[in-house]
Amino acid sequence: MVENREGHLRVLATAKKGYLSWYYDWLPTNCVASWVCPAETGAGYPEYAYRDGPEFGYKNLAVFYHSCTYDCLFCQNSHFRGQYLEGATAAAELAAAVDDKTACVCYFGGDPASQLEHALVTSRLARREADNTGRILRICWETNGSASARGTRQMMEIALASGGCVKFDVKAADESLHVALTGVSNRQTWENLALLVEYIPRRPSPPPLVASTLLVPGYVDEDEVAAIARRLADLNDYIPYSLLAFYPSHHMRDLPTTSRAHAERCYQAAQEAGLKRVRLANVHLLAPGDYA
Ligand code: SF4
Ligand code: SF4
Repeated sequence: MVENREGHLRVLATAKKGYLSWYYDWLPTNCVASWVCPAETGAGYPEYAYRDGPEFGYKNLAVFYHSCTYDCLFCQNSHFRGQYLEGATAAAELAAAVDDKTACVCYFGGDPASQLEHALVTSRLARREADNTGRILRICWETNGSASARGTRQMMEIALASGGCVKFDVKAADESLHVALTGVSNRQTWENLALLVEYIPRRPSPPPLVASTLLVPGYVDEDEVAAIARRLADLNDYIPYSLLAFYPSHHMRDLPTTSRAHAERCYQAAQEAGLKRVRLANVHLLAPGDYA
């Protein structure tokens, strides 16, 4: 066990004991990468998708790990902090939840980087069964990018082979800001992004690497988004990039929801930085007007 800055425990999980909850989500779902992924667009059909369009009739197995390697002040999923070490699910038990209507698995949380061995073993078991029965099963990861280089490559190899993707939530370009917001440096995340772009030419469609950033009012403004987008574009300007609306939560309940004006400035900044695929997500959350 390792303590983070709040004194909460981080979980060191094994394949036999994962601390998580899971549920099914019918496709297409509001996944951060859905605008470019096989479940919504049919990209990669028929090798990686059941339909040449929205994958109606199939579902996603959403795996929510109850632990994280970061300690974000704005955490939008902070309820997992009250569920540390509740129960335990073996990788084999979780893999058995993949049935013949499950077209994809998404690991998130929390963050799968904090229980990576469990997620990797689950993925291998589920993929073996899918291969044996001739089924499509995409494996996707939603992560802050903090896993080791070796672990990150393993995540990508499984995503690449299965038609899935690795989704990196990039919190900030500036390291000091990143430490202030998350408690952790962003160096590992940027190093991992640099190694993952090598995989893009191996399967350009559907895209194996997707990035996103939460637009935290007063902290992650258009200048910060431009800096993130420039670094992403320098790596590969075709990386799909989603900008996500913030809503007040965890230790930042006193902040407003991202405004439409803030989001539009960030959208423009990301495009001007050279990224070719930028999207504003969660637009239903955007507050009218601006902060001034
Ligand atoms: S888990 Fe992957 S395949 Fe499924 S909806 Fe999300 S990005 Fe698409
Ligand atoms: S990386 Fe995500 S889940 Fe982890 S603390 Fe930050 S916002 Fe919460």
